[in-house]
Amino acid sequence: MTQAAYEPVESPDATTVFPYHDLTPPTTRDVYEARPTVRDHLPKTPLVRSEYLSAELDADVYLKREDTLPTGAFKVRGGVTLGARLDEEFRERGLIAASTGNHGQSVAYAGRTFDVPVTIAVPDDPNPGKVRSMERLGATVLERGASYDVAREWAEQRAAEEGYRYVHSANEPDLIAGVGTAGLEVLDELPDVDAVYCPVGGGSGAAGYCLTLGAIADARIVGVQAAGADAVYRGFHEGHLEPGDGTDTTAEGIASHVPFALTMDVMCDRLDDLETVTDEEIWDAVRATFREDNLTVEGATGAGIAAALRAGEDLAGQTVVIPVTGRNVAADKLVAALEGDR
Ligand SMILES: *Cc1c(COP(=O)(O)O)cnc(C)c1O
Repeated sequence: MTQAAYEPVESPDATTVFPYHDLTPPTTRDVYEARPTVRDHLPKTPLVRSEYLSAELDADVYLKREDTLPTGAFKVRGGVTLGARLDEEFRERGLIAASTGNHGQSVAYAGRTFDVPVTIAVPDDPNPGKVRSMERLGATVLERGASYDVAREWAEQRAAEEGYRYVHSANEPDLIAGVGTAGLEVLDELPDVDAVYCPVGGGSGAAGYCLTLGAIADARIVGVQAAGADAVYRGFHEGHLEPGDGTDTTAEGIASHVPFALTMDVMCDRLDDLETVTDEEIWDAVRATFREDNLTVEGATGAGIAAALRAGEDLAGQTVVIPVTGRNVAADKLVAALEGDR
């Protein structure tokens, strides 16, 4: 590969993309093609009826337990899919990514699985458990800036200078196809889903459900953002890729303020609605999930649950799926949520 391969190309959104970033939206077929790889490397996750949410909504509510994956979050499905297909060139040079934690754990897991060195840039003051997990998986973790976007720009620049493979958090068809396999697993067990409530940060998870439960089962796919980090919500409803003014949410898994070209493409095509919930609703949902279902979930996951709870009787009689996208909640945030401080 020539040096030009590592130089950024013109980007459709506010992030940096490189020549190896294919911005052709992935299809349902791509998700099926990712499935054998995901099966080879990860366990199938349980789909468990929530008696609490089912009673609360007078519906059949199932939780897709992505928190049971080895990294405790759904993103690792994408990581192994991308890692398995990595060019030989990059196996030596290594991977670099910016992350608040779960994307980094996914890339670190892929690096360990396929024996590729990994560097992850995190914002200052990161979730300490997520950092320890990335380090245990063998990644080099560096605090690089006051916000995720500062860390992201640092990682993008290093990728250009050093020729690392920059693993974008959304503009990666392999990540979307990989995470989409969760939707195929749901379909195996539950062919008639009416609605899915999925938290949206960069939108890879929701895009995966669009391509599976949306496209195949005609389920209504509803994305949910934090009101304090609603750039994708605005981009979706207003039809643009303009970054927001920053982020103001303690649910770091969905604290992104840039709409990404590829996931927006899929969502604009197939997402039925995108809503926002407040941090108060998010942490109330985390607390209720802990108390009533005895599950520990991240704030990001709480967003999907909160939106379903708010829909209330609109969901009566329906079959609803909510992905438990992650369990890696920082102890202080969980304690505050349980005490009702948030
Ligand atoms: C990343 C993440 C999300 C949001 O997923 P996107 O694909 O970025 O929209 C939701 N929940 C958790 C736990 C996450 O780590």
